[in-house]
Amino acid sequence: MIKRTLQQAASMTAGLLAGTKEGTTLFQGVSTDTRTLKPGQLYIPLIGETFDGHAYVLEALEKGAAAALWQKDRQLPEGDHPLILVEDTLAALQSLAKSYRSELPVQVVAITGSNGKTSTKDMTASILSVSLRVRKTEGNLNNHIGLPLTLLRLEEDTQAAVVEMGMSGRGEIDLLTRIAAPDIVIITNIGESHLLQLGSREEIARAKTESLAGLKEGGAFIFNGDEPLIPKVLPEMPQPAHFDRIRFGTHPNNDIYPTSIEMEGEGTRFRIQDPDSPEFYLPLLGRHNVINALAAISAARRLGVSNEDIAEGLKSLKMTSMRIEALRADSGALVLNDAYNASPTSMKAALALLEELEGPSRKIVVLGDMLELGEREEEFHREIGRLLRPERIDRVYVYGRLSRHLAEEAQNRYPAGAVSWYEDKGELAKDLRSAVKPDDAVLVKGSRGMKLEEIVHALLPS
Ligand code: ATP
Ligand code: MG
Repeated sequence: MIKRTLQQAASMTAGLLAGTKEGTTLFQGVSTDTRTLKPGQLYIPLIGETFDGHAYVLEALEKGAAAALWQKDRQLPEGDHPLILVEDTLAALQSLAKSYRSELPVQVVAITGSNGKTSTKDMTASILSVSLRVRKTEGNLNNHIGLPLTLLRLEEDTQAAVVEMGMSGRGEIDLLTRIAAPDIVIITNIGESHLLQLGSREEIARAKTESLAGLKEGGAFIFNGDEPLIPKVLPEMPQPAHFDRIRFGTHPNNDIYPTSIEMEGEGTRFRIQDPDSPEFYLPLLGRHNVINALAAISAARRLGVSNEDIAEGLKSLKMTSMRIEALRADSGALVLNDAYNASPTSMKAALALLEELEGPSRKIVVLGDMLELGEREEEFHREIGRLLRPERIDRVYVYGRLSRHLAEEAQNRYPAGAVSWYEDKGELAKDLRSAVKPDDAVLVKGSRGMKLEEIVHALLPS
């Protein structure tokens, strides 16, 4: 984690050191929250809609913070305190991270896209960790605060950093990529998430392709080659003069594509087109995860990782939870917990996975609303409803206002009683619990706001 003098922090944030503490005093690490602050850290008071971190500056100093940033437009506290006066504490956090990153010889892999960022991040970090000292975004800290904090946690000897860049509108990825200055940029895919804010898939493609603005000269751009919108918008986006393009995807015109995919138990085996490719094993289900793995493999190869180490890293993958986590219900049924989030693209991927599973005697889905889709939200829900086929998926439980449209479409093709819509989550959980049999597989998926993990928990042993 960052270790610098107060004077260095002041110059990295274009700030001014106030108070009588020596400029040569060291701090180690930064904190934006006094509840988790450790002695010796630099406290950064952020300002939110309902809080102002400046209220906790004195507490931070009492708890042993080496110093704190202070936004100039805030009334200074009385007394002699080690403060670094800056124009804007959030911008200062970002400059500090950008400047620290630029001093490190670390290879940065920055990942964006509509779906699969966290999954691809975890896969890339797992592969690189076999042979390198790696740091990655913890959980989903992928925004204008989480990304700088992740960079400030890098050690001086970290060899590779794998960071996730999220967004909800134009300009956000541009900011993040300029802070991270990646050696490698990955765009996992272009979906429909954030259609509400952005208006069209093409505009979503532009928002993701902003990631090239910070790519280092001569770096690598690894993108989903099955998505024509990326090359379409590419020429108009800010980018380095020279960089390599590596396309991954299902189609054989990509630089890397799978030649065989077999789901087996709770994992997936696959091979790629390379004649000397070993068989890879992913302890995860789903074709979409193989595609995410191709992006991770491309990044690892770019950094010189061997096939053996790639295979080892994929095999030992530990995922951030709730992304198609395979669990066992107390009835013994297989529960696929994908309650973390949902958009049309990820919904289709999850349904395809359930359809392909071999083994379970019955396949059950529990679907909740997909939120933030804008004007076409009803249409997107209807489309998913029409994708459900009684010959592939036996029983459909649906919860949420928008999902009512989904249920209506499904009811048109399913036998009576096989598709049930619920207004009440608890009631759904109760009915489901009594219906699930030991040989069933149950997929649970909905947007974050729907909190369908409550249904998952109702199925698990207490
Ligand atoms: P967020 O924007 O919430 O950070 P993310 O891009 O990090 O999401 P993950 O957390 O990796 O994505 O996965 C979220 C959901 O998307 C999961 O439910 C997963 O099933 C689905 N998913 C993952 N990868 C893909 C993919 N390549 N294509 C379609 N769906 C995917
Ligand atoms: Mg994520």
